Amino acid sequence: MTITNPISATVDFDQDGVQHGFLKLPHSHDDSGWGSLVIPITVAKNGEGPTILFTGANHGDEYEGPIALFDLAQSISADELSGRVIIVPGMNYPALRAGKRTSPIDGGNMNRSFPGNPAGTLTEKVADYFQRTLLPMADTVVDFHSGGKTMEFVPFCCAHVLEDKAQQARCIAAMQAFNAPYSMMLLEIEAASMYDTAAENQGKTFISTELAGGGSATAATIAIAKKGIRNILRHAGITQGELEVDETINLDMPDQSCFIFSESDGLFELCVDLGAEVKAGDLLGRVHDIKRTGQVPTDYHAKIDGIFSGRNFPGQIAMGDFLGMVAVRA
Ligand code: ZN
Repeated sequence: MTITNPISATVDFDQDGVQHGFLKLPHSHDDSGWGSLVIPITVAKNGEGPTILFTGANHGDEYEGPIALFDLAQSISADELSGRVIIVPGMNYPALRAGKRTSPIDGGNMNRSFPGNPAGTLTEKVADYFQRTLLPMADTVVDFHSGGKTMEFVPFCCAHVLEDKAQQARCIAAMQAFNAPYSMMLLEIEAASMYDTAAENQGKTFISTELAGGGSATAATIAIAKKGIRNILRHAGITQGELEVDETINLDMPDQSCFIFSESDGLFELCVDLGAEVKAGDLLGRVHDIKRTGQVPTDYHAKIDGIFSGRNFPGQIAMGDFLGMVAVRA
């Protein structure tokens, strides 16, 4: 027996025009016995054409996506469109409200919750709604990420290596159209339960981003998100106009030697800044013992030649934390 997802939408996905509404998910808790989790959504549609699905705050402490998408939702005009735009600025909405990576209600990490479960936790129910209702409507899927409070990246748009090479080519073309300062063939650490994988398994043209991080956003990184939205809408044929094209640096992550993880706890001394060209063996960072003076720090080196593309953001680091990442020029 197929279990129906408990989410109901207050918007009609087939209606022309711009509708601002909610995804309502029953959430019975101490402060509201028959209450709901109410997730904002905008649908803008004009006639027949392709559908693009935009999401922000898959992780709730990553801000370029939600800022650019709330702005898109309030400014979009159906007259300019040929097709449909679905905007969910706060995919993990409790996490966005709390400014946290994961949901404060159930601890759910949205991007480790796919394909979801209609009878599971709140986060799993939302994931199931994307899996079985929203993703099937979409031709192109754009999911905004940044580093959050614990990581920072050079601003990149990314695609993945896929078995279906025709689909991979569509995703790469979309990444190039987005035209972030860096374009990355991203190697994932844990792909199985990600939204990315769910969208790709349904054959969608899928791109994601990492636009800086640190738990905030800058004017420059927000501008990258907004330009990417304008470009991908044109690339998808939903709006008219020329792409706005600036230089992009193409990067690849061939294997796990790109990643450096900490094997010590302490103060994190960054030794090169993001975007730096490094050689294998170059010192990237050091970890100082915070408990006593007179200790030699632990050094961490690049394993390959490339561009220093991601780093631990906080001033302290712990055993097992992501310390940094080197990607190679493609
Ligand atoms: Zn993220």
